[in-house]
Amino acid sequence: MMTPSAGNDNNTDIAAHVAAIRKRIASAEQLYGRTPGSVTLVAASKTHACSDIMVAYQAGLRHFGESYLQDALPKITAMGNQDITWHFIGAIQSNKTRDIAQHFAWAHGIDRIKIGERLNNQRPENMPPLNICVQVNVGNEQQKAGVTLAGLPALADGLQKLTRLHVRGLMVLPPPSGDFTEQRVYFRQIRQAYEQLCAAGHDLDTLSMGMSGDLEAAIAEGSTLVRVGTAIFGSRV
Ligand SMILES: *Cc1c(COP(=O)(O)O)cnc(C)c1O
Repeated sequence: MMTPSAGNDNNTDIAAHVAAIRKRIASAEQLYGRTPGSVTLVAASKTHACSDIMVAYQAGLRHFGESYLQDALPKITAMGNQDITWHFIGAIQSNKTRDIAQHFAWAHGIDRIKIGERLNNQRPENMPPLNICVQVNVGNEQQKAGVTLAGLPALADGLQKLTRLHVRGLMVLPPPSGDFTEQRVYFRQIRQAYEQLCAAGHDLDTLSMGMSGDLEAAIAEGSTLVRVGTAIFGSRV
């Protein structure tokens, strides 16, 4: 069926990788008693070309995550007419908020009120509120963005008041670990923080946690959205 041509191998790989990731997600949903289809797959396409994004799109993916704004904007323009939901998953500096507010449906890296206020003020009137996740630095790692668990309730309360933002839930990038039990411990802390916020009156529906190497542990602890890059597109350039 396939005729060999340049680029074909890579395309075949990406389509096969998408199928494999879907299978991993479905297996984890089943194993941990999660509703089938309750975990959204966001393809972390940062550094990868539009041609690769297009292959993943043709394999059925509609959510894509980007971290580097200058790299992302031309790609969003180029993919323009597709029904893609764009997620900004990188750290957010003040000078990036306007473009994020104008070009993305989601931002996952909110960790201070000032960034929330800027996004709120800059979200265009003709667009729905920007969906946001509060990033939590669960391992208190110095080099990582994210609010501490202790600082989370006050930040969530502040963000909740911003009407051009829709606070959807929490996002985490836990300390890397190859050990399933250890991965689960971090994800469980985030789930518990999420449940506390819900109990305090926040209307949340998203736990953005799990990547190529730890999505099973994340799904076991309630993840509703996994961000997968390497396992779909291969190593980043
Ligand atoms: C790149 C990235 C991912 C994807 O990580 P992989 O290990 O390549 O699957 C997930 N989340 C964030 C925030 C990222 O920047």
